[in-house]
Amino acid sequence: IITLAIESSCDETSVSVLKNGREVLSNIINSQIEQHKKFGGVVPEVASRKHIENINEVIDEALAEGKVSFEDITHVGVTYGPGLVGALLVGLSAAKAIAYARDLPLNGVNHIEGHIYANFIEHKELEPPFICLIVSGGHSHLVHMKDYGDYEVLGKTRDDAAGEAFDKVARALGLGYPGGPQIDRLAKEGNKDAIPFPKAYLEEGSYDFSFSGLKSAVLNYLNSQKMKGSEIPVADVAASFQKSVVEILTEKAVQCALDKGLDRIVLAGGVAANSGLREVMERECKKNQIDFKFPSLTLCTDNAAMIGCVAYYDYIRGIRSGLDLNAFPSLKIGQRY
Ligand code: ATP
Ligand code: MG
Ligand code: FE
Repeated sequence: IITLAIESSCDETSVSVLKNGREVLSNIINSQIEQHKKFGGVVPEVASRKHIENINEVIDEALAEGKVSFEDITHVGVTYGPGLVGALLVGLSAAKAIAYARDLPLNGVNHIEGHIYANFIEHKELEPPFICLIVSGGHSHLVHMKDYGDYEVLGKTRDDAAGEAFDKVARALGLGYPGGPQIDRLAKEGNKDAIPFPKAYLEEGSYDFSFSGLKSAVLNYLNSQKMKGSEIPVADVAASFQKSVVEILTEKAVQCALDKGLDRIVLAGGVAANSGLREVMERECKKNQIDFKFPSLTLCTDNAAMIGCVAYYDYIRGIRSGLDLNAFPSLKIGQRY
């Protein structure tokens, strides 16, 4: 099965060609970060317009790099949610047009499931079940993946997503968009014990997260430094903030795996690129005899290969989407339309 997969849920126009779900023949990612930087975040209308400008070219590039033509494609996969509605519609329309014109089966894919499946591309032998910590720009989930397409959400954020907290703190520090990579870089130069920022554990036994209190604590600290006329130790703030996020994510994920009796944790989403998180997770998992897996950097952030992988596993289980498939901006994991 040769899948052509399209991802356009946010600010990356991406197209991938995959063979039998896990073998990536091409994975072209056209990022719009430069266009959104001056606004300090993604502007939905700008994102939609850029996707329209880019999509055909990115499809052609993916076919060329994959050394295939439209005749070789046997299956189409596309993100239909969650994400920005206008952005999603661009990829969705392109995918439906291809499926219709060439009479190919179509699978609509949940973007968050895609983040999990990035690990199946990275680790060819990996199979469910496992605990997955999904930490991205808009989501923070602890999920028990029991089988392909079978998920139990055990915890999620009650306010900001982990990536969102990184982006907002970076913005307050004047580091620009997206903030995660900048904080990651600066944290390496700072002292992570310099400022005692809080960690929100919530009720005993809860696997939910909350990052808005931490974000406010950082903003209050920055304001009080400004009021005192003191200089802001940017690297120390970055390191101390990152430490709080990393520790709470790691503690909850490890506890969850131990409670569920599962000996594997898989990391997914844009924040999975964070070097501090990878390091602490690796150490704590080792301590608890838990196998720990994460995707390489390009597979952590948005890309179409991970979408194609979900589409493939849905396809071989007999699932199909119709040409009436619509964008679903608030699609939940495990939900299907
Ligand atoms: P979602 O997947 O929830 O719909 P999204 O697709 O916008 O949101 P991703 O592309 O998965 O999000 O991830 C982008 C997020 O990852 C941004 O918030 C970014 O700051 C964060 N991020 C990327 N690299 C790092 C890093 N090294 N450290 C921390 N955060 C990072
Ligand atoms: Mg993005
Ligand atoms: Fe994403």
